[in-house]
Amino acid sequence: TMDFTDYEIGYHIPALPGMDEADIQTPCLVLDLDALERNIVKMGNYAHEHGVRHRSHGKMHKSVDVQKLQESLGGAVGVCCQKVSEAEAFARGGIKDILVSNQVRDPDKIDRLARLPGYGARIIVCVDDVANVAELSAAAQKHGTTIECLVEIDCGAGRCGVATTSEAVGIAKAIHAAPALTFTGIQAYQGAMQHLESYADRKAKLDHAIALVKTMVEGLQAAGLTPELVSGGGTGSYCFESNSGIYNELQCGSYAFMDADYGRIRDKDGHRIDHGEWENALFILTSVMSHAKPGHAVCDAGLKVQSLDSGLPVIHGRDDVEYISASDEHGVIEDMRGVLRINEKLKLVPGHCDPTCNLHDWYVGVRNGKVEVVWPVSARGKCY
Ligand code: PLP
Ligand code: MN
Repeated sequence: TMDFTDYEIGYHIPALPGMDEADIQTPCLVLDLDALERNIVKMGNYAHEHGVRHRSHGKMHKSVDVQKLQESLGGAVGVCCQKVSEAEAFARGGIKDILVSNQVRDPDKIDRLARLPGYGARIIVCVDDVANVAELSAAAQKHGTTIECLVEIDCGAGRCGVATTSEAVGIAKAIHAAPALTFTGIQAYQGAMQHLESYADRKAKLDHAIALVKTMVEGLQAAGLTPELVSGGGTGSYCFESNSGIYNELQCGSYAFMDADYGRIRDKDGHRIDHGEWENALFILTSVMSHAKPGHAVCDAGLKVQSLDSGLPVIHGRDDVEYISASDEHGVIEDMRGVLRINEKLKLVPGHCDPTCNLHDWYVGVRNGKVEVVWPVSARGKCY
C-alpha cells in the first residue's frame, strides 16, 4: 500500500530543500533569503550604530528560525511576543530572552508564564495595573522563578498602559517590593502612528511620546527606580526612538519581511520605504489557474492565505497585471492584454505581513532559484 508520505509535496508541505523554485507548490509563503538577510543585517547595524538594543518582534514572523537569524546575523538581544503561547513556542525553540509586550491577567496564563523561566529563558512582561503585581508575584513564588516587569505606558496609542507618572511610579514601586519580581523598566510602544504615510505626521506623534516617556523616566529616577530598559518602536518609528536619548531598546518586526501597506509609507526625503530602506522579503507564491474570460485571470491565492485588513496584495515586479479582488480560494487578476499563462507563478506582496504569516504552516526559503530551507511557522495560531 502507498503511504501519504510517498507524495508529501503539496499534501502537507509545499516544498523540500534542494528543489527548484519552479517546483514549489502554491499557494505558499516564500522568503527571499538574500533580501531577508540584508534587512536583518541592516537593522542590526543601525541599532549598533545608534547605541540601542534591538529586540525583534516575533508576533510578525512567529518563527524560531527567523528569530535565530535575527539574533545571529542582526545582533537582536531577544524576542518580543504578544501572547503566552507565543512565548512558550519561542522558549521551546531555545530563545533565551523573551518579552511578552502585553498584559497577562488570566490566572491560567499567569501560571504558564511563571513556569517559563524554569526552562532557561529570561521572561519579561508588561504591567499597567497594580493589582497585576500581586498575581504575577504569587505565581512566580509558586514556581520558584523570577519574572521581570516593565511598566507599560500609553504614549498615544490609546491601547493598554498608564498615562500618568504617579501611576507608573506606584506600579514600579509595587513591582520592586514584590517577592519574585524585578522592576526592569518601561514599555512605551506607540502603535497608532506606525503606518501613517507622512514622515512629519509620524514624527509629531513620536515627539509627543518621547516627551511623555522622558517625564516618566525622570519620575521613576526621582523615586530611586532607574529603568534598565526603555523599550518600544516599530518599523514606522524606530528612527525617532533610537535618536531620543531616552529609549534604549527597539522592537521592530515588519522591517524583516515588509508588506505592501508599510511599503507605501515615506521616509524623511519623501521616498517610499520599500524603495531603498527595506526590501520585500516575504511573498505569497501563487499560480494562475484560470483564464476563461478575456481581461482577467484567476490565481490560487484568495483570502484564506492572506489578511486583507490593510488592502489587497501587490503583484511583485509586474505593472502589466493587477490583483483586483479576493474570495476564499480565488484571486482575480486584471490582465487586459492577456499576458498570463496557466500555471504561471506570481509573487504577491501581502497587504499586512503579521496576520498573513499566521495563516500558514511553512516558510519556503529560496536563494538562487533553489529551495534552501523549509521552516515551520512555529507559533502559528498561538493566540492564547
Ligand atoms: N512592539 C509592539 C508592542 C507591537 O505591538 C508591534 C506591532 O504591532 C511592534 C513592536 C512591531 O511593529 P512593526 O511590525 O511595525 O515593526
Ligand atoms: Mn503589523
